Amino acid sequence: MDLLEYQAKELFRETGIPVLPSQKIRHPQDLKGLKIPYPVVLKSQVRVGGRGKAGGVRFAANTIDAIAAAQAIFHLPIQEEYPDVLLAEAKYNADREFYLAILLDRSARRPVLLGSPYGGVEVNFDRDTMQRVVVKEDFSPFYARRLALKMGLRGEAIEAVSAIVENMYQLFVQKDLDLVEINPLGIRDTGEVMALDGKITVNDEALSRHEDLARLVHESHLDSELSSETAFLNTEYVSLDGNIAIVCNGAGLTMSTLDLVCQAKGKPANFLNLGSELCWREAKLPLKERLKIGLERVTKASRVNVVLVNLILGVTSCKDIVDTLIEVSERKQSDRTYRWIVRPIGSDCDIAQKAFADTDITVLENLDEAVALAVKAKK
Ligand code: GDP
Ligand code: MN
Repeated sequence: MDLLEYQAKELFRETGIPVLPSQKIRHPQDLKGLKIPYPVVLKSQVRVGGRGKAGGVRFAANTIDAIAAAQAIFHLPIQEEYPDVLLAEAKYNADREFYLAILLDRSARRPVLLGSPYGGVEVNFDRDTMQRVVVKEDFSPFYARRLALKMGLRGEAIEAVSAIVENMYQLFVQKDLDLVEINPLGIRDTGEVMALDGKITVNDEALSRHEDLARLVHESHLDSELSSETAFLNTEYVSLDGNIAIVCNGAGLTMSTLDLVCQAKGKPANFLNLGSELCWREAKLPLKERLKIGLERVTKASRVNVVLVNLILGVTSCKDIVDTLIEVSERKQSDRTYRWIVRPIGSDCDIAQKAFADTDITVLENLDEAVALAVKAKK
């Protein structure tokens, strides 16, 4: 689970990583009570990246500017996600922008430090610009300094950057994180450094050991309109950039369906695992209810024109699925035309064929055929 930027910055502040004074904004009107002096930067608090390029980061010189900017940001979806909160932060003039991150190198099974003197919105992960230092033994400040030197830093910048990397490493280990990233780390010619953006991915399996992280994750669910019943959309929905929406029940089925679509040269727009039929982690609703919510979610993206639903049904009656699909597809069809393709497996799935006879929904029992149709339906 990714934390929001303001949450990552709270952890940075506790750890001693320099961050600017900031304030959470829930409504544009909150800016009237802003305690930070102008000029400020207003930033959309969504989990996806690329906010800067999408227009989700704006500067404001006074209250009127700030309210207008906040209104624009609240109405701006970034990769389909609307912010529930904005972060207002003191504006900082950096002379250069660096990239820093710590994550696990899955193949070496060791933490790896990443750093580049060319950070910011155009950060480039090519081997010749992104420097890597694998932490082979117990961590020591030596690793942080080695990264700073590999990044080509000289003078005071070496100390300033390695001190931040050391703090990031403490956070990474103490909180069992999957990722700590600062991009950009603003750096001034005076040697002053500032974390201007932060990203933290917590390890969901470790949440029970970290009450403070669990509280942050819970808090961002409260901010969001998503209730606990639809929380699975947060963890099980993945957005890509093609045209085919994929909806399945079960992680294995979802991944294999995604693979088949890709192998057939199809372009997935997104994929969603509805979870198993029975009570499942955060999903307390019956499968047909999750299907309804899930179909609404995957069709929200304007690039979707094919919806491929692949379900394995044990206890759920195919009748329930049929009713849900007809209901959602009829409602959706009035906005836009989609090609609906369903592959249900279960004891009473022959009824689906008959039920869908005079609808726009195609039922196929064979998964390869269903995938082939989805790929060629609307290229
Ligand atoms: P992202 O695009 O989602 O990664 O959002 P960022 O928070 O990284 O912001 C994008 C860009 O906005 C950064 O690369 C900076 O150039 C700029 N930016 C963000 N915060 C500040 C700030 O406080 N001061 C200044 N001058 N620029 C900022
Ligand atoms: Mn950034």
